[in-house]
Amino acid sequence: MIPFNKPPLTGNEEQYVLESMRSAKISGDGEFTKRCHKWFEEKLLCKKALLTTSCTHALEMAAILIDIKEGDEVIMPSYTFVSTANAFVLRGAKIVFVDIRQDTLNIDETKIEQAITQKTKAIVPVHYAGVACEMDTIMDIASRHNLFVVEDAAQGMMSTYKGKALGTIGHFGTYSFHETKNYTSAGEGGLLIINDEKFVQRAEIIREKGTNRSLFFRGMVDKYSWVDIGSSYLPNDMSAAYLWGGLERADEINDDRLGSWQKYHDRLQELEKEGLIELPTIPDGCVQNAHMFYLKVKDLDERTALLYKFKKEHIWAVFHYVPLHSAPAGLKYGRFDGIDEFTTKESERLVRLPMYYGLSNDEIDAVCDVINFFYGR
Ligand SMILES: *Cc1c(COP(=O)(O)O)cnc(C)c1O
Repeated sequence: MIPFNKPPLTGNEEQYVLESMRSAKISGDGEFTKRCHKWFEEKLLCKKALLTTSCTHALEMAAILIDIKEGDEVIMPSYTFVSTANAFVLRGAKIVFVDIRQDTLNIDETKIEQAITQKTKAIVPVHYAGVACEMDTIMDIASRHNLFVVEDAAQGMMSTYKGKALGTIGHFGTYSFHETKNYTSAGEGGLLIINDEKFVQRAEIIREKGTNRSLFFRGMVDKYSWVDIGSSYLPNDMSAAYLWGGLERADEINDDRLGSWQKYHDRLQELEKEGLIELPTIPDGCVQNAHMFYLKVKDLDERTALLYKFKKEHIWAVFHYVPLHSAPAGLKYGRFDGIDEFTTKESERLVRLPMYYGLSNDEIDAVCDVINFFYGR
């Protein structure tokens, strides 16, 4: 059996979780949370990094911080996870879906401008598979129309766009440490990146249930009170302790994944040359993190047949997002702007192969054998 994913376990996680439990500061913003914050701020080069209970919650915080209100419109791709949309729908926004690019499956930056109306408040690019969206174009559109940019970088830890870490280019960035992502927290976890200093204080308040508790602890106010809306977005320190085990070995995890990605690519490129499948595109200026290795087959029927073969071999290859605009809640809370040229078509062709830290050469061979055999090679 080859699973689709395994959370990374590099060796020190157990010890750190125990240390955290014994520290008597387990509810949040303990030692390990502080270490993680420092690591992110130095490594990603951002003004402020705040651990959250999930990427879903980091997106919700961003929606509150940019004051999304009833009737506002938010532009994003339809080919994404539900939380990208839900965070803004919860504040009353209407979602405006824009088609994706055929090559990276990221939002098509050339179709954003025509989707902008008087009501548009933000653009939410999703860096699919940890491969960056065309951020220069997106930031230019945003600044000309006075819009916020919230980067959903859930899959993008260690990836860069023209040398900048994903999530540090827009006004906000969000990351996920769910067990399916490259770096994981115990339980679930996420991160909010704040790139404009003026949002930092309010973010700390929202994260702590709408109180000014962090200012109080720093001695900047003499009592702590309810000052804004907020929720319980602060993760427990044991979650951060597990994450710290992975961050300490971040390069090793990244190199290992990139090695597996390259092996898949090498073993499958013959089929691509013959025009039977398509492999991922990494545009110039983008450094990726091997979050995912996917291939695209001819159509839905061919994918169903290939996934059936994998299942028979006990290999967990899977498809991905069902486009949000076609889902029940998507019909209710959103609309698709322009034509769906690639969103549905490409999503139906996509197959994700097993990918995790520690994936062995034998496993990669076994996966590629199924594909080669399927195409009669
Ligand atoms: C995983 C993921 C999320 C949600 O992350 P959680 O930490 O599980 O809340 C959001 N957006 C994208 C693109 C994701 O891949």
